[in-house]
Amino acid sequence: MDARRLYKSTPATDLTDLPPLGNDPESLIKDFRRFYSHHLGRDKNCRTAHYLYEALVLTLRERLMERWKNTRYAYQDSRCRRAYYMSLEYLMGRSLGNAVLNLGVVGEVGEALHQLGLELEELAEEEADAGLGNGGLGRLAACFLDSCATLQLPVLGYGIRYRYGMFRQSIRNGEQLEEPDHWLRDGNPWEIERPEFSQRVRFGGRSEVKRTADGRLSARWLDTQDVLAVPYDLPIPGYRNGTVNTLRLWSATATDEFDLGEFNAGSYPESVAAKNDAEKITMVLYPNDASESGKELRLRQQYFLASASLQDVLAQWIGTEGIDLASFADKNVFQLNDTHPAICVAELMRLLLDDHVLGWDEAWEITCRTMAYTNHTLLPEALEKWPVPLFEQLLPRLLEIIYEINARFLAEVSRRWPGDHERLRRMSIIEEGPVPMVRMAYLAIVGSFSVNGVAALHSKLLSEGLFRDFFELWPHKFNNKTNGVTPRRWLAWCNPGLTELITETLGEGWPAHLERLRELAPHADDGDFRRRWHQVKQQNKQRLAELVRSQCGVDFPLSAMFDVQVKRIHEYKRQLLNVLHVIHLYDRIKRGETTDWTPRCVLIGGKAAPGYFMAKRIIKLISNVAQVINSDPAVGDLLKVAFLPNYRVSAMELICPGTDLSEQISTAGKEASGTGNMKFMMNGALTIGTLDGANIEIREEVGDANFFLFGLTAEEVAEQRRHYDPWGIIGADRDLRRVVQLLQSGHFNQCEPGIFDPILHSLTSPQDPWLVLADFRSYVEAQRRAATAFRDRDVWTRMSILNTAFSGRFSTDRTMEEYNAQIWKLNPVPAAP
Ligand SMILES: *Cc1c(COP(=O)(O)O)cnc(C)c1O
Repeated sequence: MDARRLYKSTPATDLTDLPPLGNDPESLIKDFRRFYSHHLGRDKNCRTAHYLYEALVLTLRERLMERWKNTRYAYQDSRCRRAYYMSLEYLMGRSLGNAVLNLGVVGEVGEALHQLGLELEELAEEEADAGLGNGGLGRLAACFLDSCATLQLPVLGYGIRYRYGMFRQSIRNGEQLEEPDHWLRDGNPWEIERPEFSQRVRFGGRSEVKRTADGRLSARWLDTQDVLAVPYDLPIPGYRNGTVNTLRLWSATATDEFDLGEFNAGSYPESVAAKNDAEKITMVLYPNDASESGKELRLRQQYFLASASLQDVLAQWIGTEGIDLASFADKNVFQLNDTHPAICVAELMRLLLDDHVLGWDEAWEITCRTMAYTNHTLLPEALEKWPVPLFEQLLPRLLEIIYEINARFLAEVSRRWPGDHERLRRMSIIEEGPVPMVRMAYLAIVGSFSVNGVAALHSKLLSEGLFRDFFELWPHKFNNKTNGVTPRRWLAWCNPGLTELITETLGEGWPAHLERLRELAPHADDGDFRRRWHQVKQQNKQRLAELVRSQCGVDFPLSAMFDVQVKRIHEYKRQLLNVLHVIHLYDRIKRGETTDWTPRCVLIGGKAAPGYFMAKRIIKLISNVAQVINSDPAVGDLLKVAFLPNYRVSAMELICPGTDLSEQISTAGKEASGTGNMKFMMNGALTIGTLDGANIEIREEVGDANFFLFGLTAEEVAEQRRHYDPWGIIGADRDLRRVVQLLQSGHFNQCEPGIFDPILHSLTSPQDPWLVLADFRSYVEAQRRAATAFRDRDVWTRMSILNTAFSGRFSTDRTMEEYNAQIWKLNPVPAAP
């Protein structure tokens, strides 16, 4: 049995040439019943929700399948230029609702299920989130794919099919517990395994360079341990346009030969161990966000993705264009999502030099014309570096190539700045030190024709700071592409109430032309429209309150302001500043300062990296503060606090529609862009935020009057840091002093003495890089302005409408159009009719 073996003769007819499937409720019902009974083999005695869900997926998948094939054929026939999105992470969430929406069959599926006594929302709950990412970076990749399909751009996503995705978080005694996320346990009906496109990936061994008869240097990579990469394809439907693009995820297995030697020697267990070793590579997603841990297995994952994907693209090229690679760079472009796939630069060189026997200059030109790099962070600790000895042992041939790239690059720097040894040391791809390191970001910049940041401020800070030397050398490479989110999932699907109201007002089609939301602005002055807008918000708050009730056991009254901060727990995101404000509100209630009070429900959620001590302690603080406040009868409904466990995509789909106030309070200059901020804005939440990341552009769009701004600017942060005096700030602020005293007195940890000392220590340290206390006063005042505005329903609802109305710029359709116009330069390919 070999799924890769081609059938010898051609079948007499095109086996895929089938009549189109009907989308009317009757056809859907017929297929649904056939899948449930004849395919899944279920009957009236085992009506579990899961198989009903699966029968529905199969019904829809059939309809995607014909569009998918037509899209592949259309790309093939047009011989179009293509882009490949290279990412170690895709935070896809659930696919069912998105497929129904994008296929344009919401009404038909609803009607079909209704006739069967079923409900789409209930079946959709059966699907496990595909949590193959940590947070913003992985979710961005998922939104990009949705927009590329919607714009009919020939873009294929490459990633890893982790057997275990982002861990499941639960809270025990206020602390985070991590459990494995076995998301494939019940199978994944969306994926199509394609062993016929498997690729071999090599590790270890040694490199041998020889001079050939014609005088060329020829390298061979010998004695390697090989792993097989097997692709699993997921359909990515465009919004009502017939296009279905592909996300190709690689899974590692042992090669057939790998275990044969052992097996013949009679060591059956060892031969199976080899299989386990190979499969380890794609076993688990590293749960680090914005920091890398330098583990060998992680480098293996990165190389595995790079090598399998590049070989796949080259194999496709040779299959359709032949062995001549002269026009390869005209037809292909690779977008590197952060430095995680940066090894692509060296791997493409290796494939071109060693496997396709091109000369260095020709190979380098192809590489530099096909690679483009997106940076996602300004935190220096998140810039990946790999120890040279690890590289040497795991990827010896790749290290040789990196040395050669570096030598030629440094020669170029020397020609430009003769004698500037300090600059050479700074810019070298190899960082000197007791253990020399490979700087992956520099490899990516040197090997790419485009380097972009993800919001205007971030891109500016990259060229002025982190990558300044490279900007001086190659200013033309640097550009900005402000992030977005897909309005299909993050408005049309997750907020049906608002979608109905918007469609009634603007007509159909706006989810693919989000700038049209502007036309809502005049309606902000219409009292009847405001009343209906508010009604929808209240219904969404009800759904969110039910989630909080079931997950946290806390009751959120619907008349209160829902104040929400959900995102990864990180010191730079400053959940601590939020907690300080909550403690301040509690203190005001306790001292009786409650005239003109705005009742508030504060919801905080997010995962902490398992090895990040401070982040985990922050979760504990939030939980303890919530416990004290919620159980104090003097507080009552004036203030509620909850920590929502296991924040993920499907939770955000309930959270952002039900939020009044969106917390985007990072230290200015630290959040590259943020995308949570955009989801909230689209759903009519108002932002309280710093001048950081895309907050700046959000405020520009919606106007200062509809945004609660506070805090130091990025420049002021840099300045303050040099003479930061937290005790001086505490001394000058009575409210802050009382908050700090409550923490010091152990008010929130009466039975757990000292557990919050590390937090107090960090808050009061002149070395605190996040300057939490510096923004406290300004934050409290912005919160007061928000509370006052919320008390006037008309004022608030007007601002809410305007936030949605001016969120059009933050559709990833706009982002992808910019990537395409300035980096990829692809032509859209319409789907076959
Ligand atoms: C949007 C999203 C993020 C990113 O949120 P930020 O506030 O931009 O950090 C992270 N996780 C999930 C599940 C998301 O949906």
